[in-house]
Amino acid sequence: DQAESDINATNVKQFEKFFPACARRLMDGLEENHHLRYAGRQQFTLFLKGIGLGPNESLKFWQMMFTSGSGAMSLEKFNKEYKYNFRHSYGLEGARINYKPWSCTMIMSKPKPNKQEHHGCPYRDLQSDNLTTLLKKMGMRDDGNLQKVLELSDSREYQAACTKVFEVLNSDNIQQNMSKGLSVMEVPITHPNDYFNRGVLYEKR
Ligand code: SF4
Repeated sequence: DQAESDINATNVKQFEKFFPACARRLMDGLEENHHLRYAGRQQFTLFLKGIGLGPNESLKFWQMMFTSGSGAMSLEKFNKEYKYNFRHSYGLEGARINYKPWSCTMIMSKPKPNKQEHHGCPYRDLQSDNLTTLLKKMGMRDDGNLQKVLELSDSREYQAACTKVFEVLNSDNIQQNMSKGLSVMEVPITHPNDYFNRGVLYEKR
């Protein structure tokens, strides 16, 4: 097993501010429905694996999210129908493949989400009103930057839109890093876990 990081089943939420829009959408869908459909589970499980949630903590996290709250399923049902699936994503069952967190390209190569699904890339998949709601939840203000992000999404420049959001939401940390003479990355976001890691790095150092 990989060394478990500081992230565990109960503190995932505290790291939400570092989530790109795709991960935030999955988290919101999961909280709202106490459930995610198959593609969403895959995408989010592997993202969480990438941010350092180990297999045991991951299983605890999903169990907690699926079985608590009103209308949530029973623990029995979770164990019977879902446990294997989560263990499988960690390569602990079946073919024991060590699945990697999905890149943006991988995410966009999958079928688009339907109305009940939350996987995919929100810059591609959401109508501008729903995208605006999501971006505001993430901390974007209703200003020219938000307009710019909507425009980039409209012109199918999804990663440029995502990179713009990252720059706006991390602008204070980016400036502080630069004023300390530390380098900041200028290449566009191409992976959800890169978005996460950059945010954590800029905040820490
Ligand atoms: Fe996620 Fe990539 Fe879309 Fe950003 S561009 S929301 S990281 S899939």
